[in-house]
Amino acid sequence: MNSNLWIEEKFEDFLGLKFKVEKVLFSGKSEYQTVDIVETKGHGKMLLNDGLVMVTERDEFAYHDMISHVPLFTHPAPKNVLIIGGGDGGTAREVLRHCSVEKCTMVEIDSMVVDACKEFIPQTAKDLDHDKLTLIIGDGVEFVKNTTEKFDVIIVDSTDPIGPAQPLFGEAFYRDVYDCLSDDGIVVSQGESSWYALDIQQSLLTVLNAVFPQTYLYSFSNLTYPGGLWSFTFATKKHHPINDLDVNRVTNSGLSFDYYNANLHSAAFALPNFVRNGLAGLIDND
Ligand code: SAM
Repeated sequence: MNSNLWIEEKFEDFLGLKFKVEKVLFSGKSEYQTVDIVETKGHGKMLLNDGLVMVTERDEFAYHDMISHVPLFTHPAPKNVLIIGGGDGGTAREVLRHCSVEKCTMVEIDSMVVDACKEFIPQTAKDLDHDKLTLIIGDGVEFVKNTTEKFDVIIVDSTDPIGPAQPLFGEAFYRDVYDCLSDDGIVVSQGESSWYALDIQQSLLTVLNAVFPQTYLYSFSNLTYPGGLWSFTFATKKHHPINDLDVNRVTNSGLSFDYYNANLHSAAFALPNFVRNGLAGLIDND
C-alpha cells in the first residue's frame, strides 16, 4: 500500500521524530495507555505506547542485547531472572538464550501490549510462551512488594516515568527490588536519555544510590529514541560490571549477537564528560 501517512513522536515541546507509516496494524486503548503497532517504511514494525516509540524491528536488538546481556554476563551464574514491563517480549527473548537461566518471570501490567505484540511483532514476542517463562499480567510494583522469591538479576524494562511506570523510578520500589534480589543480585533499568533527560537520570541514580552499594550508568546507540544515545542504570550488591566480567563466559556461551560483545560491555560504561559531570557523585563508573 502506498500511503502518505507519517507519525510524529513529540518529545516535550521542542522536538519531533517523524516516521513514514505504510500500514496501521493495530490500534487500541487499554486501561493504562494507547497501544499502536504500525508497519513503517525503513524501520519495520513499530510499537508505540501513548504515541511514544517503544520498539522497532530495525533496531530493537541494540536495546534488548544491552539491557539483558550486560547484567547476565556480569553475574557469574544467573538462574532466576525477573523482568518488570517488557511487554513486547524482546528482553525475555534475550534472557532465555542464557543456558544458566532456569526460570524467568515477567510482570507486565498491560495485556494489550503482550497480545498485540504476539500477533503483530513475533520478532520480539516469539518466546513469550517459552516453558521457562512465567508471564504475569500485573503491576511490577506490587509484585516486588509481595514476592518471597529471590532473583539473581532484575531487569526493569519500563516506559518513561509517567502513568503506571512512575513508581518504577521511586525509592520505595527499589527498596523492594533490593529485598527480592539474591545476596549478589543486580538490577538494570531503562535509564532514559543523557542528552534530554539528565534530570530523570539524576533522580533515578539518587534513588539507586540510597539503596545499593554500587551504582553505574551505561549507554548504547539506537535509531529511534530521541537523541540516539540511550542509557541503562546498573545497581549491584556485589559484582562489578567490568572487573567481574569473565570474557570466557561470553566466548564460551556459543551465543552470537548483533550489538553486544565483550569489548562493548566494558566500553559502554565509559561515559562522555557531560554525562560524568552531570552525574558526579551518583555513579561509580570511574
Ligand atoms: N523498550 C521500551 C522503551 O524504553 O521505550 C520499553 C518496552 S516495554 C513495551 C515497557 C512496558 O512497561 C510497557 O508495555 C508498559 O505497559 C510496562 N509497564 C509500565 N508500568 C508498569 C508497571 N508498573 N508494572 C509492569 N509493567 C509496567
